[in-house]
Amino acid sequence: MPIDTRLARRIATVKPSSTLAITSKAKKLRSEGKDIVSFAAGEPDFDTPEPIKQGAVDAIRKGFTKYTPTTGTPELKKIISEKFKRDNALEYGVQQIAVSCGAKHSIFNALFVLLDKGDEAVMASPYWVSYPEMVRLCEGTPRIIETSRKNDFKITPGELKKNIGPKTKLLMLNTPSNPAGSVYTRDELLALAEICVAHKILVISDEIYEKIIFDNLPHVSIASLNKDIYGLAVTVNGVSKSFSMTGWRIGYLGGPADIVEAIGKFQDHSTSNPASISQKAAEAALGMAGSFSATMREEFQKRRDFIVARLETIEKINCIVPKGAFYVFCDISKTGLGSVEFASRLLDEAGVAVIPGESFGKDEYIRISFATGMPQITKGLDRLKDFCDAL
Ligand code: PMP
Ligand code: GLU
Repeated sequence: MPIDTRLARRIATVKPSSTLAITSKAKKLRSEGKDIVSFAAGEPDFDTPEPIKQGAVDAIRKGFTKYTPTTGTPELKKIISEKFKRDNALEYGVQQIAVSCGAKHSIFNALFVLLDKGDEAVMASPYWVSYPEMVRLCEGTPRIIETSRKNDFKITPGELKKNIGPKTKLLMLNTPSNPAGSVYTRDELLALAEICVAHKILVISDEIYEKIIFDNLPHVSIASLNKDIYGLAVTVNGVSKSFSMTGWRIGYLGGPADIVEAIGKFQDHSTSNPASISQKAAEAALGMAGSFSATMREEFQKRRDFIVARLETIEKINCIVPKGAFYVFCDISKTGLGSVEFASRLLDEAGVAVIPGESFGKDEYIRISFATGMPQITKGLDRLKDFCDAL
């Protein structure tokens, strides 16, 4: 067998995750003593709160170290069910909830049980880097809607309608979004929901950045809008971003019982349960009063305001003010460089790591993460300005 046909076709065309690759490259350069400012990170820079760590320590001490039910313990599911009700006006019984190893895993599982070969998953560009690749891994076809700045990079009803064909199975939504920080309003979601209902299109709604939203904007879960869309939607969330728990790997989803049951079967034969200790930590997190997320959000908003004001002084960069998440998506087309070359030269020549927009489907942009402290932000922006001014 020739070497290049050894791997299955479904993996051969999949690209590695540039967000993960660039973040670890920046970490490695730093550990070698290089003075690198990393604007690459896709994770909050706060420590996981103490009560959450204590929950995990208690789990270890009490010997809660064995297999649990595949899609999570009844205790954790009950807390998640209450969370959905309290924060999202969503009624999901425990049989409608599946806990997995991160929201990434939840999304992958949902796609795996919903897509047949050639089914289309509609999504906005810019998209989170993993969406199209996950769809391809499930042998589906990503159908990309090119959104524009004018609409804050959100899918409009007209664009959605135009992109629904006979093979369209589902819509992937992300609010607040990575990388553009767009936040859909209730009316915008209502209009999209109406189209999905009319065409019987399922929705995977990724709400992982729910707690990082600025200017007191409300977060709306599409599934909460009415009974019809509730029956078609899967709501994904997790503890990674809300509680600074990226390494613990707990994500979850709520949705129609048949879809959740199918995910249970898939998880039975693939990963089994997410780590028992992390589940106990997630219980502690979701049971905590809201103060941690609120403090984090305030800090992110301060950083956002600072960074946007500084970016406005850089002539060749044009940024979009993010309404949520912790990224600024910047138009670099005035520099005349493509995003991969821009990011690579910025790292080599100025010691600043950013993610090229090409990874999100928009080559004339870069993504700057502000999940790093103010001294680093200030230093990185000074370097970015000098770099751009000298181009
Ligand atoms: N969705 C989006 C939009 C993300 O940016 C991330 C970041 N990791 C995830 C899902 C997955 O989060 P996790 O697997 O850590 O829960
Ligand atoms: N979601 C984060 C990001 O976009 C973390 C890295 C990843 O999982 O892709 O950077």
